Amino acid sequence: MNLRSVRKFLRLGELVAIPTETVYGLAANALDPAACARIFEVKERPTADPLICHVPGFDALDAYCHVNERAAQLAERFWPGPLTFILPKKPIVPDIVTAGLDSVAVRSPNHPVFRQLIDGCDFPLAAPSANPFSYISPTLAIHVQANLGNRIDTILDGGPCDLGVESTIVDLRDPDRPAILRYGALPVESIENALQRRFARPEESKTPLSIAPGTLPKHYSPRTQLELRSTPVLEDELSSNDRTAAYLLLRKPPHSLSNHIHWLSENGELESIAANLFAKLRELDSAGYEKIVAEEAPELGLGLAVNDRLRRAAYRGDA
Ligand code: AMP
Ligand code: MG
Repeated sequence: MNLRSVRKFLRLGELVAIPTETVYGLAANALDPAACARIFEVKERPTADPLICHVPGFDALDAYCHVNERAAQLAERFWPGPLTFILPKKPIVPDIVTAGLDSVAVRSPNHPVFRQLIDGCDFPLAAPSANPFSYISPTLAIHVQANLGNRIDTILDGGPCDLGVESTIVDLRDPDRPAILRYGALPVESIENALQRRFARPEESKTPLSIAPGTLPKHYSPRTQLELRSTPVLEDELSSNDRTAAYLLLRKPPHSLSNHIHWLSENGELESIAANLFAKLRELDSAGYEKIVAEEAPELGLGLAVNDRLRRAAYRGDA
């Protein structure tokens, strides 16, 4: 389907799955409450979990929220890109998009297909990840097809998502007290260096969960049990005869071992680890293992986003 037809479709209130540089999104006209309600239905997502609104760029924001100097600085430096701002909303944004909050999440993605699409839209696009709520996010069009293919008509294939984890979310409602709400594809250190100041981290946040429900303890989860290791998995364990567990290592092991050993990168580079994470989890989840044993990434840069996803994927409580 060409982009013109896709825009027409969106204007009519239909949903379209679209590629972004982070993960595939399930998009609707953000100013159309009925279309946005369909996103929650299709994903079986609780309506208390607000959606991110995607815009062509900083200039478009004024129509939807109250901008401030901090947002202008960050947009200048990082947009289009994997950085979402939380800002006080204007009344034009429907309640269903913000889960009734008086703030709205906004981002300008940097994927060529997404940009072409949104440049011709006269409305913002509400788009969460195009997967059933709490399952592993999609980084390929076939992931969307596999999970939601029978519920949505149109999936735009833009190839594999380059970054592979969701955007970093910063709360800029109070520009003097900026805070990271979710670790993501833009490393916190890059944001702090650019602005020459520290941002409060999610683990220090006193913000109640209701303002950042993407932070539910269980999320990004395979159906297979996932066990997290904070120290490297040793070769003894890898060479055991137990074939019921898959091992997901951060880097390729020095010798080739058996086919239940998998890795996220050749040399431990965090960019590859993040880019491959969700696709690998999906692959292992459908391979019939009883358990997936995964190594934690180093606690810095993109490693923070990877570990955040892995911890939620491993969460076994009822939440
Ligand atoms: P995603 O599911 O990746 O599209 O991310 C959406 C997430 O953005 C939500 O789960 C929240 O964590 C966050 N979010 C969206 N809107 C708001 C808002 N108004 N205030 C705080 N966080 C928000
Ligand atoms: Mg999601």
